[in-house]
Amino acid sequence: AALHEAKLRGRDRTEVFTGTLRTRAVDRLSVETGLRRALRRDELRLHYQPQVSLETGRICGAEALIRWQHPEHGLIGPGDFIPIAEQAGLIIPIGHWVLTEGCHRLHLWQTELPNGSELTMGINLSGRQLLNPHLIEEIGDVIDRSGIDPGRLEIEITESILLDDVDRSISVLERLKGLGVQLALDDFGTGYSSLTYLRSFPIDVVKIDRSFVDGIGADEGNAAIVRSIVELSRSLGLRCIAEGVENEADLEVLRQIGCHEVQGFLLAQPLTADDAQRLISYDPQW
Ligand code: C2E
Ligand code: MG
Ligand code: MG
Repeated sequence: AALHEAKLRGRDRTEVFTGTLRTRAVDRLSVETGLRRALRRDELRLHYQPQVSLETGRICGAEALIRWQHPEHGLIGPGDFIPIAEQAGLIIPIGHWVLTEGCHRLHLWQTELPNGSELTMGINLSGRQLLNPHLIEEIGDVIDRSGIDPGRLEIEITESILLDDVDRSISVLERLKGLGVQLALDDFGTGYSSLTYLRSFPIDVVKIDRSFVDGIGADEGNAAIVRSIVELSRSLGLRCIAEGVENEADLEVLRQIGCHEVQGFLLAQPLTADDAQRLISYDPQW
């Protein structure tokens, strides 16, 4: 365990096997065992956080966010189990479940809601999934089976993951684009990538990370950063979504800047499928 920890922390270092490491190893194992059971017993859930277009003021899509309905611990967020699922390789079956469930839901909305054909569905992919040699085939298969319009599926990949191996990433992204899906660069700004990547990666959407959006109503420095990201994206023909919008002042600045879409607690929390569908049918205006 100590060796593993030393490698994890960048190699060429010493780690001592302590009680903390032991507890962590035991915790990991129990999460891993629990996750295998969760897949078999149908304990995973998708919540959907609406995204609002600032051009129309209406809901234009949603992002699917995974949760684990644990029989003893209640609802667990992705931060507490996705990293372990990645290490244990369980992210492959879990990711497949997320994609199937998300596409199924999108198809329902596309067929049942009056404005359904305009909605997009964001699905998050992790680094390990991008390394899966069968990824493209699997996604293509899920799209075919679900009957959705692939152009309405928005695959979200975190900027920092793409930077691990840029050439490889571009090749995977190009093959994904071949399926007709949209690609979103998630958490943009946190990976310290060069802005030129916005042009090299075959993406459609830039999701500006919450850390830049938070407080832009009060901080001119952050507002300047977001403004340049939006302007650059626009001139490259990309759509911008601001993540983590929590207050009116921030929303107002995003409107002035001309950001295309917003997502955040101010507009809506991640909701159960039924609640999200109700909200979308209600068709609120911002
Ligand atoms: P993300 O893709 O950047 O998702 C946005 C996160 O920000 C979500 O956290 C959402 O609940 C949270 N959020 C939304 N609006 C606000 C806001 O106004 N304020 C604040 N403070 N937070 C806001 P969540 O659901 O805990 O997900 C965390 C991360 O876990 C996601 O970040 C994504 O990277 C990952 N994740 C979620 N679902 C999946 C999945 O199905 N597969 C994979 N591979 N990763 C997933
Ligand atoms: Mg995301
Ligand atoms: Mg994000």
